[in-house]
Amino acid sequence: MLIWLNSDSKKNLSANVDNYVSAEIPDPLKDPEGFNAVSKFMIHGPCGLQNPKCACMKNFKCTKHFPKKYNASTIFDQSGFPIYKRRNTGINVKKGQFFLDNRWVVPYNRDLLVKYQCHMNVEICCHARSLKYLFKYCLKGHDRATVEISSENGNVTIGADQPVDEINAYFDGRYICACEAAYRIFGYPIHYRSISVHRLSFHLPGERTCTFTENDTLEKVARRNRYKRSPLEAFFLLNQIDPSARKYTYDQIPEHYVWNEVDMIWTMRKKGSQIGRLLYTHHSAGEIWYLRLLLTKVCGPTSFNHLKTVNGRCYNTFKEACLNLGLLDDDKEWHEVMEECAKSGLPPQIRQLFVHIIVNCQVTDLLNLWQRQWKSMADDILLQRRNLYGEEPTNISEKQLQFYVLAGIVHYYCHANAQSQSNSWPM
Ligand SMILES: [Zn+2]
Repeated sequence: MLIWLNSDSKKNLSANVDNYVSAEIPDPLKDPEGFNAVSKFMIHGPCGLQNPKCACMKNFKCTKHFPKKYNASTIFDQSGFPIYKRRNTGINVKKGQFFLDNRWVVPYNRDLLVKYQCHMNVEICCHARSLKYLFKYCLKGHDRATVEISSENGNVTIGADQPVDEINAYFDGRYICACEAAYRIFGYPIHYRSISVHRLSFHLPGERTCTFTENDTLEKVARRNRYKRSPLEAFFLLNQIDPSARKYTYDQIPEHYVWNEVDMIWTMRKKGSQIGRLLYTHHSAGEIWYLRLLLTKVCGPTSFNHLKTVNGRCYNTFKEACLNLGLLDDDKEWHEVMEECAKSGLPPQIRQLFVHIIVNCQVTDLLNLWQRQWKSMADDILLQRRNLYGEEPTNISEKQLQFYVLAGIVHYYCHANAQSQSNSWPM
């Protein structure tokens, strides 16, 4: 269960982690209730050499990385995972013949644990970058199972006493946990979006998309589309007639104007709020990518030609316009591409993109590109190394981490021929 706190509750959360989550055994004299609950529900193991048959053991190692190390105070590692306080207090819990101390405690919240008297692992997540992964986890799809409904004698029946087509008696089931089930039964909203996002389409001159059925004649399609306008063309029109719109770029327009689908115009926004985002375009798409770049930089363009005009001169291509606007100096476009991808892409995709750029594009200062962008390619590596080798991320130096990222890059570089396929890029 992922619980979001409101902003007031989040103030100073990272400094107050110990008030909410603990990974130590309470003092049996000061808090006997807490001590009993932790001993009963929150002690991992014993595993390791003391108990190699424990369910958590794989290749003679505990997959949950117990016992943990002693730790004087709660800290956060580079990837935003908290490493909880586990002091060597001398307090033990006896499990079978073993005495287990704070290194074996699964993080918990004392009050919840005492109230509900069951195993309840509570952890805190307060790093913006780890949130990206939580979302991926929540949205990865549901746990499902195919189940068969049958009676004891093997005859499949549903309702009446007639045998039914057994193929139909298989159900594609979806698991929902008890709290989600209750939430749905009571009809609470399952999700909402706090701010509406207008996905802005754009196109090269004369390449506006139009829809038609296969029976339509070309004349008919052309006639019907003659007086239509795309949101981008309407944006140019708006700038021609409304001087107050000219201080915005295309992606800022939905904050101040509302798209009217029927009249195909942007009208002044009177209420509500919305933000605009341009659809993702892959850099190798060429002119359309440069058009997209211009649309996020040039305020109040009145036409495609206006976009291509720099210091009074109208250039032939959007790329030349970008060049003369200084948008491509100092490898700016590559930094732009990398940063855009890092917003929504996962590290393997970002590494792949980095390889694509260094293999296929002319980067002037590769070292600078690497130094400014490598961190976005490293997020998953800390996690992987923790899972595979039980390495604590705090023990990995920045140099080592860079080395691991480079290893990932070399891996893609060796397969660089397969890079031209662009379907795996994030939208
Ligand atoms: Zn274990």
